[in-house]
Order: sequence, then C-alpha cells, then structure tokens
Amino acid sequence: MTTESAPGRTDTVHADAFAAIAGNLPTGCYIGGEWRSSSDGSLIAVADPSTGETLTSVANGTRDDAALAVDAAAAALPAWSATPPRARAEVLRRAFEIMTERHEELAQLVVLENGKALPDARGEITYAAEFFRWYAEEAVRNTGEITVAPSGAHKILVLRQPIGVAALVTPWNFPAAMLTRKIGPALAAGCTVVCKPASETPLTALAIAQVLEQAGVPGGVVNVVPSNRSSKFVGTLLADPRVRKLSFTGSTEVGQELLRSAADNVVNCSMELGGNAPFLVFDDADLDAAVAGAMLAKMRNGGEACTSANRFYVQRGIAEEFSQRLAHEMSGLKVGPGLGDGVQLGPLVNSSSRDKVAELVSGALAEGAEAAVGGEVPEGPGWFYPATVLTGVGPSAEILGTEIFGPVAPIVSFDTEAEVIEMANDSVHGLVSYLYTSDLGRGLRVSEALDSGMVGLNRGLISDPAAPFGGTKQSGLGREGGHEGMLEYLESKYIACDW
Ligand code: NAP
Repeated sequence: MTTESAPGRTDTVHADAFAAIAGNLPTGCYIGGEWRSSSDGSLIAVADPSTGETLTSVANGTRDDAALAVDAAAAALPAWSATPPRARAEVLRRAFEIMTERHEELAQLVVLENGKALPDARGEITYAAEFFRWYAEEAVRNTGEITVAPSGAHKILVLRQPIGVAALVTPWNFPAAMLTRKIGPALAAGCTVVCKPASETPLTALAIAQVLEQAGVPGGVVNVVPSNRSSKFVGTLLADPRVRKLSFTGSTEVGQELLRSAADNVVNCSMELGGNAPFLVFDDADLDAAVAGAMLAKMRNGGEACTSANRFYVQRGIAEEFSQRLAHEMSGLKVGPGLGDGVQLGPLVNSSSRDKVAELVSGALAEGAEAAVGGEVPEGPGWFYPATVLTGVGPSAEILGTEIFGPVAPIVSFDTEAEVIEMANDSVHGLVSYLYTSDLGRGLRVSEALDSGMVGLNRGLISDPAAPFGGTKQSGLGREGGHEGMLEYLESKYIACDW
C-alpha cells in the first residue's frame, strides 16, 4: 500500500480546496425558498475526516424549524402537484444540467466532508445527477389503468396521484446520491419535500438545495434542514398529519425505530437499510473478472456502502489464488486524504466508524483469521484504516454477521453450491448478493435462490438510476430508482365508473 505523504497530513490541499469553494456554499436551513439560521441559532460543526479538523459549521435545525419546513412544503403542495408534468420535468432536467456543470466543485465538497477519494466522489456526483435526469424523463410517464370489471357492468379507473408532503432522511455515505435518489422521484410525482441530511455531511445536501433553487424549483417545494437532534426533528415531522410519506436511508436500527414512530399516523414508508452482501466465487469463474469485481464491490467508497461486499465465499480449489490476487490488488491502493494526487482510498467518516472496523478485525484475528494485507490502524491524524484481506475466517465468525462498513474483505472457503447458498442467505439482511461463474445456468439458478433484492451476476457494481434498488428482509421496504422509484411517491386512486 502506498500513501500520499502520511495519512491525515493534507499539507494544504484540502484547506486550499475548501477555501476555493467555501464562498459559494450555503450553510443555513433552506425553508420556503429562503436561507435562514436555525430558530435557536445553534450550529453543527462539519469535520474533514482526513484531519479531524473542523471545516465550517452549518445551522442546526430545531423542532420549530421542522414545523416551519412542513408548513412551507404543505403550502407549496397544491401548486406543485398541479404544475404540468412537463414543467416539473424541465426543472429536474435543469437541475441535472447544473449539477453536471458544477460536477468538480460538488465532488470536491463530498471529499472534504465525507472523506472518500476523489474518483469515488466524482462517480457519486455523476450517479446523483443521473437521478434528476432519469426522473425528468419519468415525470411525464405517470400512467394509470382502466379495466373492465369482471362482471362487465362497469369500468375500473385507477389514477396515480402525488402522495403529499414527504419527509426524506438520508445518510452520510453517499451525501449527494441518496438525496437526489429521493428528491428526483418525489418532485417528478408532484410531491413536496422536507429533507434531513446526515449531520456528518450537511454541506453537500445544502449545495443540492442550491442547485434546485438555481434550477427554478419554487420556494417550499424542497426544504433542506440539517439537524443533529435527529430523533426530535424527524419525530416532529412524523407527528404532523400533513406528512404522508417517509423515505429513509440509513441503518436498520434507526429504520426500525422510525417505522414504529410512523405507525401512529400510518405514514407510508420506504426504507433503504443496512446490508451484509455475500460475494460468491465459483471455481469455474473468470478469476481476472472476479478479482476486478471484488475490488469494485468491496472498495467503492472505501467499503462505506450498503452494497459493499461484506462476506467473500470462494470455492475451495481457487480460494488461495483468489485471496492472493485480491490481497495484491488491495495492497496496491494509494491511501491518503481524498484530494491527494492519485489517492484511491481515503479515511473513514469518523473515529467511531474506524474503531468499529478495527474491533471487528481484531476479533476475527483473535478467532484465528490471518491478515494477508492490512489489519492495523495507522499512526497520525485522520480516520484512516488500511485495505485489509482476512483469510482463514470461520463461517460463524462475528465479522460475517456485522455490516463492516470499511475496507475489509473476510474470505471463507466453501465446497458445494447448496452449502454456499445456505451460508449466503444466513443473514437478517438481504440487500444485494454477488456471484461469479462462467456457467450461465448456475448463475441464473443461484441468482434465483439468493434471498436479496438485487444480485450482481458477474458484476461488482449494480447501482443504476434506471434499475429498482432495494432489499429484502431487514434491508428495507420499497425500491428507489427505475420506474418503481416514482411509484413510492404516488397513491393509487380507484374510481368506479359507468358511462
Ligand atoms: P444512521 O445512523 O441510521 O443515520 C441515517 C440518518 O438518520 C441520518 O440523517 C441521521 O441523522 C438520522 N438519524 C439517526 N438516528 C435517528 C433517530 N433516532 N431518529 C431519526 N433520525 C435519525 O445511518 P448512517 O450511519 O448515516 O448510514 C449508514 C447506514 O446506512 C448503513 O447501515 C448503510 O448500510 C445504510 N445505507 C443503506 C442504503 C440503502 O440504499 N439500502 C444506502 C446507503 C446507506 P444524524 O446524522 O443527525 O444522526
């Protein structure tokens, strides 16, 4: 593994980059088309994970701000839902174009507050902007149904209408894409929104609010309020009967809590929760492709992705060769502050994330695993953790039952197809599974048997704005992206009619 100076020592690259964009960045709450302080004037400090130092502070929304944001969203709803779909589409299309023009600045901002390496951040901004383009195209394709009742006596007409004010709560790991993946379909459907971004990464969310403002979104249609009083803030949203939708992306534990809160007003919920993705490599796989796919599935975002491959199951005859080749690739990654020249792996988002990863690895080593590469916390500032490959991991090791959320690849050997399907499905999560094989019959058979909402068949990257993203079991409810993503913001109305 090579490092860009020492991890955490940014020289002046990050400070200079932030100084260059800071003047254009909003730091207030965006409510009703206006930028304002929080009602009690309090602030959230935003840190650079590569140094731990504060970059700046943003407004810290209160319950009163949550209520104001719902007032604004509710007031804007009638006009926005009545705006012709083509006009809504054009606003979203402009937002896509502005994000594309501001691509590099937004990517740098993601690096500065999230820590990921610049190539990952560039990929995220492209992906995030695509949700605005995709839903600009979908806004004009809100189809209903008309059928004849089986009795033949009347017609069944089904309209799809905007569900109403939507509360959108997003995590820090894809601060741009997780927000646009919700705002795009919500606006296309004719809903208005109140967004609460993660407190680690509010700047990107506020910059996206600014993009939407520049694109001509009317005041009140999109409201973005950072708040680190998350439980109270989101609780206020869910207690307001005008809020008819919650779309949450984050951990399973918080999702469960929010589902309970949403029950009181029977709020419609979409949940994109945690993952624990298995990555299966059969002995007939193209090993070059499998190693390349493993690097993508594991290392996109430095492992801080819900889709990150968390458990590698490799057929016994090729396990050693696969492990060596993966370790070789992992050891070649350049680690350092995300804006450093050629850096491929930045720090984790904060100290508690790094402590969790380090503890899981120590536990696996204590249980008898070996680190083929990595496995030790480096000295120096910032929340760095090295790319790590663990071999000799037992099938019941604790690390296999926990979402690692870091650059660590535990490898387990298996013998038979039936055995590996059972191990892969032995999880409360079911977001995504990956498998590599050159036997198409096996590929499709195993894909069908894997209990997850998505499967990467000879693919290490599955995210696509045009595809329905989401999980089974405790990985969530509903889908984002594709045609299905807009349905999450539409209510079906059945009109029984005769003519
Ligand atoms: P998190 O702790 O659950 O936080 C997510 C969001 O919920 C943040 O905005 C957070 O605000 C807020 N929040 C936290 N506690 C809350 C509470 N008690 N009530 C209301 N809101 C609350 O998750 P995270 O650490 O940011 O993100 C990592 C997790 O997200 C991982 O499990 C990952 O797998 C999952 N994820 C899933 C997907 C998917 O599509 N399935 C995509 C990306 C990430 P604060 O920041 O202010 O605490």
